[in-house]
Amino acid sequence: MTTTDRRVQEFLQVVKRCCELTNVKLVWGKGASLTALGEPRGELAGYFSAPHGRSPGVLAVARGRPRSKWLAVLAHEFGHMSQWFFNDPAWTVTTMPNGQDAQELMDDWVDGKLELDADEITDIFNRVRVCELDADARALQYIRDYKLPVNIEVYKREIADMDYSYRLMQRTRRWKRTKVRPGRLPKLKLDQE
Ligand SMILES: [Zn+2]
Repeated sequence: MTTTDRRVQEFLQVVKRCCELTNVKLVWGKGASLTALGEPRGELAGYFSAPHGRSPGVLAVARGRPRSKWLAVLAHEFGHMSQWFFNDPAWTVTTMPNGQDAQELMDDWVDGKLELDADEITDIFNRVRVCELDADARALQYIRDYKLPVNIEVYKREIADMDYSYRLMQRTRRWKRTKVRPGRLPKLKLDQE
């Protein structure tokens, strides 16, 4: 086993242990993507859903991709799990004052099932983006802490593309995975370096 393999194993052990302790089922998808229940934007590379009452949570990652890719996804979803566990403001902000879930409202609006005014749209998107960028910041920290074999520069670009796609969706009411033009990488508040 190489040093890199050992680091990956160490991180996987930590994730497994945390899942066991918090009633979260760790699910590995065999393919390049998986479908989450009620996910309108199709295939996902992974997802986290928190335990609810007695029903366990799920931490799912599609492993049918290169290790550097699924490890980054695992780190991101584990970031969401950590937000949930610590009841972090970046997690609780996605619950609207009336108890509704910001991500679900966003999905319903994009699907045309729900009409919202401009202020509501801005508010909902900001909540989701705060949560996603915080999960990415946590993922970057895990990648550094465990020296995981993930190219940080490539990963940061994917984070920027994802955030840009959300901002476009806010304007166009349509989901399209879009890449930021080269040389126009927006500054993201991710690093405490
Ligand atoms: Zn996420």
